[in-house]
Amino acid sequence: MSVNERLRALPSVDSLLQHDISQQLTGQYGQVALRDAIRACLDDLRQRLLSDEDTSLDSSDLMRQVAQQLQDQFQPTLRPVINASGVILHTNLGRAPLSQSAQDAVLAMASQYNNLEYDLEQGRRGSRYVHAEELLCEVTGAQAALVVNNNASALVLILSALAKEAGVVISRGQLVEIGGGFRIPDIMAQSGARLIEVGTTNRTRIGDYEAALDEATSMLLRVHSSNFRLLGFVESAELSEMTALAHNNNLICVDDLGSGALLDTAEYGLLHEPMVQESLSAGADVVCFSGDKLLGGPQAGIIVGRADLITRLKKHPLARALRVDKLTYSALNATLMHYQRQDAIEQIPIWRMIARSLADIDQQAKQWAASLAADVIDGESMVGGGSLPGTTLPTRLVALKASSPDALMTRLRQCDVPVIARIVEDRVCLDPRTVLPQQEQLLLSQIKALI
Ligand SMILES: *Cc1c(COP(=O)(O)O)cnc(C)c1O
Repeated sequence: MSVNERLRALPSVDSLLQHDISQQLTGQYGQVALRDAIRACLDDLRQRLLSDEDTSLDSSDLMRQVAQQLQDQFQPTLRPVINASGVILHTNLGRAPLSQSAQDAVLAMASQYNNLEYDLEQGRRGSRYVHAEELLCEVTGAQAALVVNNNASALVLILSALAKEAGVVISRGQLVEIGGGFRIPDIMAQSGARLIEVGTTNRTRIGDYEAALDEATSMLLRVHSSNFRLLGFVESAELSEMTALAHNNNLICVDDLGSGALLDTAEYGLLHEPMVQESLSAGADVVCFSGDKLLGGPQAGIIVGRADLITRLKKHPLARALRVDKLTYSALNATLMHYQRQDAIEQIPIWRMIARSLADIDQQAKQWAASLAADVIDGESMVGGGSLPGTTLPTRLVALKASSPDALMTRLRQCDVPVIARIVEDRVCLDPRTVLPQQEQLLLSQIKALI
């Protein structure tokens, strides 16, 4: 057939709309999107015919393309992935996955009306701030608590409400960038606080803070240097020294913990990550930390501390702008209850991963290796999420065979549920520690289909 004859032989949009699978596609994506996709695929085919390509004119082949195009078009940009990277808290991969009961709580709250701001006893308007407060006070030992959008916004609120136009003393070693361009000095400028830097990058003593105090100082701020570690000739003031100095001078002491663990990471072969309870017992007036780092819950900024200061934060206009919704409260409460019931290690996914034994991982790695014709090698998992830099957990990695590791990494990312692996010594490796149990079978079947 000549090109012209072939162009004339193309099926019409209307005839394709009558094709067997069109009814199903209409149900899935709607008539308008289907018609547009058919038009686009026909245009594409016409172009290929005009450039003399030998392509199929078969309607069923064309409809397969249409179905593929619709599937791509309707794929949300935010999708589940399988984290086989061995980084437990991966900020790029959404940080902490929720526990089963947190998932159940979110679903229950998403699908029904609730008393988010309704006082059931009085039958009138209530405050959303009550929902996590009691539990947070119970598990941390604080007087009062407030939840905002994330820890970055917690810091903005604290500085805006408690240090506007006043001096805030901070060690030069703690003027850090946390990630995503979030820099402590910028946040302080933004909130109207006056930055008073003391000490040096590697050494700051309590005397440095003391010497910097003036009439207009209102706060001593400690920021946990979450994502890096200084080694060698290093010194910093103890939090208890800072709180004593603050209180002797009528100032407040604020501690930004970053991750803020409620359990002791040192019990699991890691370095000791500063704990919320420790900061409060050291006398910090306000402590803030993330909900989705070592707490293992939803994205949130959690602020705990002195009742009068928390009340000032609640009353600040920014609190309204930074408030969290019913889904965050329900996930956070369900997560906090694990700490209250003392089943966090078994029930919160990231703690289960942290606490998992090497023998257990080894056994799973050997099973995977057998089914994927791969090798098992020693490796290291990381906590990540700006926690515990430079310390790792020993693990066992499944090293896949591949002529081009980069090409295999790409194909793993192209799976229906993308697989995020890691290259170690030029080999594509999977770390069983961070793969959720319900994703294991899918992980294996997807990889088997690739190799
Ligand atoms: C991670 C981190 C933050 C930011 O917390 P988000 O919840 O990601 O907004 C702030 N301060 C420190 C010290 C951190 O480690």
